[in-house]
Amino acid sequence: MPLYTYQCECGSEFDRFLKLASYKEPQTCECGKIAEKKLTFCSVSVMEAYQSPVTGEWIETPRQRRIDLKNSGSREWEGREQETKAAQDREKDFDKMLDKSAEKSAVEAWQALPSETKKVLEKAS
Ligand SMILES: [Zn+2]
Repeated sequence: MPLYTYQCECGSEFDRFLKLASYKEPQTCECGKIAEKKLTFCSVSVMEAYQSPVTGEWIETPRQRRIDLKNSGSREWEGREQETKAAQDREKDFDKMLDKSAEKSAVEAWQALPSETKKVLEKAS
């Protein structure tokens, strides 16, 4: 569905997805007035359709894009502050994972030691 931009005399501007057949219908602004269709050179669409790498479905609207991002575990860019925080969280998780795997390796290495060596080490500690 093509996206059209409307300009109201109150100053606000809004986008509507409309079927081609109904694009001439007047659109009401939040303020209650009838807004005029804005004539722009690219009034048909704000985003290019693309095929989801996850589902293979065609993504044509911002709504479909949000759902697709959610399904793939991705999300929209939320601004520098939020992105920095998310990156720090990921780093923390990664550290935890490293700690765990280091701990696991240590335990496994310990278990693999000959019992004589273990006894010597236990006395030493
Ligand atoms: Zn208005």
